[in-house]
Amino acid sequence: MIALPRVRASKSADRICEPPHSEFAAWKALTVSSNLQELRSRLDAVDARLLDDLAQRQQLVGEIAAIKLAGDAAVRDLAREEALLTQLVERGRQLGLDPHHVTRLYREILEHSLRAQHERLVDRDNPQRRAQRAILVAYQGTEGAYSYLAAQRHFGPRGGDVAYRGYDSFAEMLEAVRDAAADYAMLPIENTTAGSINEAYDLLARMNLAIVGEEVQRIEHCLLALEPVPLSRIHRVFSHPKALDQCTDFLRELKGCHVESYTDTAMAARKVRDDQDLSQAAIASEEAARIFGLHVIRRDIANQKENFTRWVVVAREPVTIDARIPCKTSVVFAARHEEGSLVSCLNILAARHLNLTKLESRPRLNMPWEYLFYVDFEGNLADAGVQEALQKLAARASFQKVLGSYPARTTREARPVQPQPGAAAETFVEAESEAAAASHPDVLKELEKKPYKLASRASRAKDSIFRIGDAAVGGDHPVIIAGPCSVESRDQIFACARLVKELGGHMLRGGCFKPRTSPYAFQGMGYEGLELLSAAGRAFGLPIVTEVMHPADLEKVARKADVIQLGARNMQNFSLLKELGRVDRPVMLKRGMMASIDEWLAAAEYILAHGNQQVILCERGIRTFETATRNTLDLSAVPVVKELTHLPVIVDPSHACGTWRWVPAMAEAALACGAHGVMVEIHPEPARALSDGPQALDFDVFRAFMARVTRRHA
Ligand code: PEP
Ligand code: MN
Repeated sequence: MIALPRVRASKSADRICEPPHSEFAAWKALTVSSNLQELRSRLDAVDARLLDDLAQRQQLVGEIAAIKLAGDAAVRDLAREEALLTQLVERGRQLGLDPHHVTRLYREILEHSLRAQHERLVDRDNPQRRAQRAILVAYQGTEGAYSYLAAQRHFGPRGGDVAYRGYDSFAEMLEAVRDAAADYAMLPIENTTAGSINEAYDLLARMNLAIVGEEVQRIEHCLLALEPVPLSRIHRVFSHPKALDQCTDFLRELKGCHVESYTDTAMAARKVRDDQDLSQAAIASEEAARIFGLHVIRRDIANQKENFTRWVVVAREPVTIDARIPCKTSVVFAARHEEGSLVSCLNILAARHLNLTKLESRPRLNMPWEYLFYVDFEGNLADAGVQEALQKLAARASFQKVLGSYPARTTREARPVQPQPGAAAETFVEAESEAAAASHPDVLKELEKKPYKLASRASRAKDSIFRIGDAAVGGDHPVIIAGPCSVESRDQIFACARLVKELGGHMLRGGCFKPRTSPYAFQGMGYEGLELLSAAGRAFGLPIVTEVMHPADLEKVARKADVIQLGARNMQNFSLLKELGRVDRPVMLKRGMMASIDEWLAAAEYILAHGNQQVILCERGIRTFETATRNTLDLSAVPVVKELTHLPVIVDPSHACGTWRWVPAMAEAALACGAHGVMVEIHPEPARALSDGPQALDFDVFRAFMARVTRRHA
């Protein structure tokens, strides 16, 4: 990763050293180059100090781990990690460091030390593993392939002597483990875009091996070429077929370009290097570019930006895992040919609160129309409850094989923490329980007459909670969505995203298709804006919210947006509502400015009735005789709606107030009356905003507002 910019830096230094045309130029070039040299050697000294400090940190972590190992203290203290990160971000800010940068660095450091502690615990409980001096890790592909990167990521924190060897196929790699030619194999099991990898599942059922770990690796496809040539010069692209499938949108843009499948992504990169043909390119990781000396000519080219692969780490023998490490357990079973058989098997897990994280079915060998089910659940074989569940499952099933328990990488407890800016001791007082309100006989009688069913509390008493990014919309913690009315430029949306993330906001808003009263007003940047919004969201780890005005745009926008907004003016656009019912994306349904609460909920019903149950209501002010404000924020709608429906309700005070000065007060009032979140418009320079400038909070006002909100609702 560091190599490429370094090459560029030395190139510019070369330019500075061009032959001087006069003595003065020679003197100047010499001074510049010696200044540069001196700065570089100072930089090297700083880097060396950073490494010394990291090594010292690691030493201390080791000592702490030794104490934890001896007792039964929790390995991970999430609250401490959160507080530490928050402090570090604050200290970094005082030193002029970017909070996002500090967060990313420390998340990596904290994760590494947590993994190192887990490794020590697993070693303690597994003497045969402890005795392994040098280990050989098998993976499919060649150096630089994603499996190779995942293997390094997984085995890196373990320290010691680790060697990696690439194999041509999954089967050969697993056979190497079975025959003791390798100690571990990295088997990719699923990808968040392409889904389950069938061959991997079939091999696990067939071979007698154990799962002892899992790893998750973000897949960031890049286009690599010999030189930094323009895209128009590329005529042939090579990659693994799955990688090509994942980049179809980008490849379509490369007019007249021939696309060819290759064994794996890293081999494709190697071919480009070996052929020395400037018109060829490979789709592979940035790491592959470094290994094969290629240039990244385009980054992030996958259709879906959130692209992860999960691997299981396979060994000959299972491992015992300390109860303090969040674990998953994997089992394969075949249900009996009886009515309700699969459900009764799964109920065994549910009854013991063993959370299911994956269920997969594959055809049974030589048994047409019979299936093997693969189940992953959160739990540890060392736990008596899990043992009991598996005994019961074995009795219900016609076949069962336990693949093992291993430290989880995808559960909530296993994920890195977030800094909590402004977090303080005051506790959030929960509003009256919604379920209790709904069970009131008067409310139930009211609900019978309503023009909606699925949206009604009568059909679902429990609150609907939607997990979007790190936030849960509809839960106890209010969600903060902020961003500009319209996406206007890269600088503008990135500045907003950076601030929202820094202050602990949960989502980034930004309109790209704008409903404007006048056809002469700025109509939004369309898809260009969507690209910028999506890049900003990705850069800062924020889900994005954006409005769709036409059914024709829906599919394309849904691929990028995490939440689709249906604006107030379109609340009763029934064809759009029906289409929104057919996409698997949460919809934020704004209340029409002339809509009653019943009409609003009936509009939500349209979306639900067409299949999509993920609707977030948004109160944004209604038209009344009052003209002091742009609209009148109907906060009484919040408790009313919470009685009538299980859907979450958030409040947008910006469009109601129309003037920024009243927005913070109304946002706080919204949270006080029980809204599940607020959405506010912000802008780096409200006076220059292309839409809704008068109601946008500038960064200072937004910062002060967020400080109050996080203090009250942390
Ligand atoms: C917006 O969110 O920018 C917007 C246009 O909102 P509304 O539909 O509530 O007017
Ligand atoms: Mn707006």
